[in-house]
Amino acid sequence: MSKSFLIVGAGFYGATCARELTDAGHRCTVIDKRTHIGGNCYTRYVEEANCHEHHYGAHIFHTNSQRIWDYVNRFARFNHYINRVKVSHREKIYSFPINLFTLYQVFGVKTPQEAIACLEKKKIPIVKPKNMEEWCLANVGREIYEIFIEGYSTKQWDKHPRDLPASIIRRIPMRLNFDDNYFNDRYQGIPIGGYTSIFEKMLEGIPLELNVDFHKERDFFLRKFDQVIFTGPIDSFFDYSLGHLEYRSLRFDHQVLNSPDYQGNAVFNHTEAIVPYTRTYEHKHFDLNYSATKTAITFEYPEKWTPGKIEIYPVNTDENQNLFLKYQAYAKDLPKVTFGGRLGQYRYYDMHQVIGAALEKVKFLTQS
Ligand code: FAD
Repeated sequence: MSKSFLIVGAGFYGATCARELTDAGHRCTVIDKRTHIGGNCYTRYVEEANCHEHHYGAHIFHTNSQRIWDYVNRFARFNHYINRVKVSHREKIYSFPINLFTLYQVFGVKTPQEAIACLEKKKIPIVKPKNMEEWCLANVGREIYEIFIEGYSTKQWDKHPRDLPASIIRRIPMRLNFDDNYFNDRYQGIPIGGYTSIFEKMLEGIPLELNVDFHKERDFFLRKFDQVIFTGPIDSFFDYSLGHLEYRSLRFDHQVLNSPDYQGNAVFNHTEAIVPYTRTYEHKHFDLNYSATKTAITFEYPEKWTPGKIEIYPVNTDENQNLFLKYQAYAKDLPKVTFGGRLGQYRYYDMHQVIGAALEKVKFLTQS
């Protein structure tokens, strides 16, 4: 039987649900409190630089799943962009993620065997590391820790690694070959024409209202629709009655420069504590389009999250997890409402994971 669905949020979770439910014969309406579709994957075309600005931070699509790759390719063609990050630290540039070339740059080693022997010597014996700093010193030694981790983590978490638990870092990805592809997945790329056009195609023919906050007309919406799919923050749905789930936030400073190429690469990580931003992006390198004489760049600054700011990274502490579980228990009493996506699940999800989770949820909703 055909049902009416209100989908709150026009990001990947909401758009996938809307497309699939509509194609299965249901009636969907999508709302978003922002003035644009795409959620955090929204891209804006910058005419002077002839490229698409990743408005909420660099987004590289990557997946190992043939099913998800085929699905997203229904709505876009992808270019052959491969994410190869560079690290800037004290006037030097390093290859990243850490690979044999990085180890050559730091230690002068030239072969995997030399690298293994060198790294073993660099490890500082610490039997039970008490914090993140000690964990790093014990596992990768001082040089790697100071160049790649100390300053960057201090900025990212607003705390020095010696004040962060060792459990925050479980592994430092390190390759003993010259492969500098950031991702290990089979498929990777940037949609030609930007991410926003994916959402335009996904939402084709589906009623959409922007600039509409669900909470302002919550009772009306709950009465009007058979089912609600809510992709906003789960704690907001319950008026933060048990308290706020914590996030880290980011601030993006977008600029257009009168130069054809600012940094020669899409992404630079700035790992020195004294440099206030963590990353710079140059958007024409994502699009692989070098036709314009100007360039669009973004400085990414980590920020303390306070209510009203964009929720970016869930803070993975036991307290937050317990609070989330309590909200989830509340949610179980609302059979009309489904909570999904990164904010509904209070989880860091990549795009392919969000699409996969939405496809599973629609399967469940259309079978029950
Ligand atoms: P969102 O995109 O956040 O969409 C939720 C929508 O709900 C928003 O548009 C919001 O306005 C709306 N909403 C919330 N509350 C309400 C309300 N009350 N009323 C109406 N509307 C509401 N993933 C990758 O795969 N590769 C990457 O390289 C990558 N890089 C990233 C970089 C950064 C800086 C960030 C933050 C994320 C990155 N991601 C990346 C993850 C990616 O952004 C997410 O997987 C994806 O955006 C999640 O989609 P979503 O639909 O769950 O949430």
